[in-house]
Amino acid sequence: MALNETIYNSPVFQQACTQFDAAADILGMEAGLRERTKRPRRCVIVSMPVRMDSGKVEIFEGYRVQHNLSTGPAKGGIRFHQDVTLGEVAALAMWMSWKCSLVGLPYGGAKGGVVVNARDMSLTELERLSRRYMQEITPFIGPNIDIPAPDVGTNEQVMGWMMDTYSNHKGFYDPGVVTGKPIALGGSLGRREATGEGVAWFVKAYLQDMGIPPEKTTVVIQGFGNVGSETALALYHWGAEITGISDFTGGIHNPKGIDLKAALAYVAANKSLQGFPGGESVTNEQLLELPCTVLIPAALERVITGQNARKLKCRLLAEGANGPTTNEADQILSERGDIQIIPDVLCNSGGVIVSYFEWLQNLQNYYWTKNEVFDKLHRMLAKAKASVDETQKKYNCSRRTAALVLGIARVSEAKAKRGLFP
Ligand code: NAD
Repeated sequence: MALNETIYNSPVFQQACTQFDAAADILGMEAGLRERTKRPRRCVIVSMPVRMDSGKVEIFEGYRVQHNLSTGPAKGGIRFHQDVTLGEVAALAMWMSWKCSLVGLPYGGAKGGVVVNARDMSLTELERLSRRYMQEITPFIGPNIDIPAPDVGTNEQVMGWMMDTYSNHKGFYDPGVVTGKPIALGGSLGRREATGEGVAWFVKAYLQDMGIPPEKTTVVIQGFGNVGSETALALYHWGAEITGISDFTGGIHNPKGIDLKAALAYVAANKSLQGFPGGESVTNEQLLELPCTVLIPAALERVITGQNARKLKCRLLAEGANGPTTNEADQILSERGDIQIIPDVLCNSGGVIVSYFEWLQNLQNYYWTKNEVFDKLHRMLAKAKASVDETQKKYNCSRRTAALVLGIARVSEAKAKRGLFP
């Protein structure tokens, strides 16, 4: 991070703040409480020396931001990506606060990040970096303080190493410190699928409201990692046609439908979609402008922008990723009025809901079936959708602002009722 950079001038952080202000205006929040609710509580920066396979030592920078600790332990993923910044992590932590609150979880919001291109690391280097990061943030986290989970560039194995590092430090097996772990280490059945299952659940529910049946639904998805691929599978099994997918190397378009099994096998063997023969190659920019019923960004922030918002050709924009739509694009889409949006804090909330279930199972040492997990998940998603739809009508605002009003109101009320210490 450049020494003169602060989180407050990061474009992603500003995007989150503008969204916050629109909701706080509706709530009529007074200035003091507004700032207190908006600002992150703690931002930790760590510097991590890691021995590479060559014998050389490299220093990596990492972050953990705890945005809100007033309504329970903080919760949020850890991202390994070369472009991670503290401001981005702070924005993602803020969105986690509103998301957890919106769906009624007893958590605050947090996020972590490490500036690294994990794809260029060997497995042993990745393990040493993951353990070192956990070692550095151990004083600030724990099952009752802050519970990390996977995000872009991290997965079940990384969570397993982190849980092991923390447990070794404590001297006992303590699986509730992270979620998204392998099943053998206290992971929950259904967690791997949970975010995509939730995105697909909302897509189906809103398409039903719009009167569009599965056989008339084509889907384009940016990002073919955990969220993108699981969403694709869930919507395919429902009966929709997946006509576009992409990853960091570019996209594939096939109007007749992409063979998802073949695409997953190709990525497992080749580490990316590059060269996948199941369709025509397109760039990530072209992919977003393909004609389709549902467009699902499921990679990084700020991909739907002032430049492409007028060119989108979908009916429904389902935000699998966090923060994929800039405020300028949001404004353009609202003026267009022909594209419905399922905002990120609602759309991808299935992930943190099942992370919560995993944590509960860890704390109780009592494990549920996948059916139990999905049944409870679907009921929480239905409740969240109903309250967002009702709030949108009540305030005659966008669905994003309605979701944020619900999420932010509970956090600010808790802060006001707790008062100030001392
Ligand atoms: P992942 O690392 O499993 O997958 C990310 C995918 O995006 C990969 O296919 C990668 O190649 C692709 N990608 C990376 N850079 C890209 C670029 N510039 N253009 C196009 N594609 C690119 O990550 P994930 O866990 O699937 O997370 C994806 C998004 O969903 C993120 O915004 C994340 O914050 C959000 N999210 C994840 C979860 C979860 O449970 N994993 C929960 C809620 C929200």
